[in-house]
Amino acid sequence: MIARDTREIAIVGAGAVGAALALALARAGHAVTIVDGRSGPAAAPGEEYGEFVVSLNLASIAFLRAIGVWPAIHASRVSPYGGMTLWDEGGSGATRFDSVEVGEPALGCFVESALLEARLHEALAEYPGVSRLWGRRATGLRVAHDGARLALDDATTINAGLVIGADGGRSAMRQLADIGVERFDYDQRAIVCNFATERRHDAIARQRFMQGGPVAMLPLADGRCSLAWFRPEAEAERLVELDDAAFNEALSEATDYALGAVTAATRRRAFPIVRRHAVRYVAERFALVGDAAHTIHPQAGQGLNLGLMDAAALAEAIGRGSDPGTDRILRYYARWRRGHNTAVMHAMDVFHRGFAQPAPVAGALLGPLRGLGLAAADRAGWAKRLILRHGAGLAGDLPRSARQVGGYGIGP
Ligand SMILES: Cc1cc2nc3c(=O)[nH]c(=O)nc-3n(C[C@H](O)[C@H](O)[C@H](O)COP(=O)(O)OP(=O)(O)OC[C@H]3O[C@@H](n4cnc5c(N)ncnc54)[C@H](O)[C@@H]3O)c2cc1C
Repeated sequence: MIARDTREIAIVGAGAVGAALALALARAGHAVTIVDGRSGPAAAPGEEYGEFVVSLNLASIAFLRAIGVWPAIHASRVSPYGGMTLWDEGGSGATRFDSVEVGEPALGCFVESALLEARLHEALAEYPGVSRLWGRRATGLRVAHDGARLALDDATTINAGLVIGADGGRSAMRQLADIGVERFDYDQRAIVCNFATERRHDAIARQRFMQGGPVAMLPLADGRCSLAWFRPEAEAERLVELDDAAFNEALSEATDYALGAVTAATRRRAFPIVRRHAVRYVAERFALVGDAAHTIHPQAGQGLNLGLMDAAALAEAIGRGSDPGTDRILRYYARWRRGHNTAVMHAMDVFHRGFAQPAPVAGALLGPLRGLGLAAADRAGWAKRLILRHGAGLAGDLPRSARQVGGYGIGP
């Protein structure tokens, strides 16, 4: 038996997903302890935009608004985008998505990851029922029918009704809860940085599909673009090491000079791309959310959006009972989210196989086929709207806090 306050919840991992979940739970009156191995939250970037930028869809924005943090993020700086242009390397197919097709002023917006996290933690600091323990790592988990005990590396223990693993792709909590993971390495890296272009981006995201991986130019509010350039590992390493002039030239060519020549690329970073999926999202008195439950190919910018929907769904499920860690609540959450996340993961793989495979046969056959695919998508209005509605977070079984009566939007 583990003595505890039934409303106490412990979260390991204070990234955007763990912090958003803590905020949702604190607003519902739970006592929350959130633990992270880092020494503190990310600092909000200064004048210079941070180079790790994520797209938030309309459902994520609605959730952030529902937990009271969106006005502060919006007032800092966000980069809305109203459309998306996709085209194929060979020039044989292209399609354009526009927010007017789904009756919205924007499809979502790009936000610096550090800014999002900083604002979430400022909001959390306002709640006396939230304890944030920095510089501590989880080392043990013991569960019983009535509660769970989390052990930290400084010998602290926390008794809670529910322990949540929000500790990212290489989740230690997943292991401590003895939950297996399916893993696939794409043998790709994503190069990220910000850069200026000769021509205006007009708040349109642009993505060009190439063998080896796509390149995306994501519009920022200061007129520049954020880059997500997916290349096979060895090539990505070589590109990151190029001098500025050579990198700018390589990027200008890769982007097809769609916005003219690229200049002034900032510091470049490359991230390995791995798909992981926890075989279960829950165990006794335990749940996984965000990257700890799933990491997906980021080419469609959906990973954090899925994680925020996990947080919204888990908070909603917990709100259905007085004890947050019962089997009934946890199974409800797992059924809701695992099916949805699996479908999105498969869709990313279809994209990857159809557009990035470098095999000679794929090159000969898939090249024209993928061009046809984009051209067909462009003509089939209903299919386009369906893809658009799902990508923008307007469709699917959304948590209540991610829907908004009276319409969506990116305003505060
Ligand atoms: C190149 C790239 C581009 C992307 N673009 C997008 C996009 O446009 N849109 C989108 O929706 N998603 C995008 N993603 C995915 C998105 O970045 C992730 O899904 C998201 O950041 C995951 O958040 P998280 O809070 O679950 O995990 P994390 O941000 O990884 O946070 C985990 C936290 O847990 C802490 N931690 C880890 N282990 C322990 C431990 N043992 N004890 C205590 N603390 C611990 C860590 O310090 C960290 O703070 C992208 C990903 C990549 C790689």
